[in-house]
Amino acid sequence: SLELRNLRKVYGDTPVLDDVSLSMSDREFIAFLGPSGSGKSTLLRIIAGLETADAGEVVLDGRRIDQLHPGARDVAMVFQAYALYPHMTVRENMAFGLRNARVPQAEIDARIAQAAAVLEIESQLDKKPAQMSGGQRQRVAIGRAIVKHPKLFLFDEPLSNLDAALRTRTRVELAQLRRRVDAAIIMVTHDQAEAMTLADRIVVMNDRRIQQIGAPMDIYTRPANSFVARFVGSPA
Ligand code: ATP
Ligand code: MG
Repeated sequence: SLELRNLRKVYGDTPVLDDVSLSMSDREFIAFLGPSGSGKSTLLRIIAGLETADAGEVVLDGRRIDQLHPGARDVAMVFQAYALYPHMTVRENMAFGLRNARVPQAEIDARIAQAAAVLEIESQLDKKPAQMSGGQRQRVAIGRAIVKHPKLFLFDEPLSNLDAALRTRTRVELAQLRRRVDAAIIMVTHDQAEAMTLADRIVVMNDRRIQQIGAPMDIYTRPANSFVARFVGSPA
């Protein structure tokens, strides 16, 4: 399970996260919804260890991970701008983190084959990122996260660069991913329909704080305040 306890983040003298707390169970799928600038990506980066909080704790399975090096966290993050290594092939991109973690080569090959099958990128494995489409690169970035076998996936708008058809297919892949892998998923999205279809619970953020946490239908039919009601378009 993941526990966020009273997280606070300040840039300069501007607070961007204030008293953010959340409990998440194993294998749960949570979507973060909120306007631009509400702190969603900052929160994901803090959980991933790419940013430190000014106060509060991040606890994964009873262990404080905010004090661990990012590479030692059992977490994999997929960014909006997917950040593949341009000089490496797809296969090398996917193998890189595993080699550093000293996973045996046969195991690396098996994990890559499995992830490539799930994401339908088997024919792309020997290409370099520049030779692929944006949607293919996006799926490689997701594949690179899958092969780590993390306890927690962090997706920051993973489908935002895809066309409508690919977006729908990849959404289905994400829905299947949660059944195949033994992990929890947090996904930031601007797409409310995506959040509603994929997530067990939705976290609505605004003004540095979590405004509401609840099942999609509860958020929609019983918004906690007028911001949430307007944001998710609840019936008046
Ligand atoms: P979007 O939906 O546009 O991606 P977001 O909810 O992910 O927005 P964040 O990127 O977390 O928002 O940013 C939250 C606030 O923190 C914003 O006001 C942003 O300007 C500020 N911010 C983010 N990163 C930094 C930084 N490195 N230095 C200073 N301010 C930052
Ligand atoms: Mg963001």
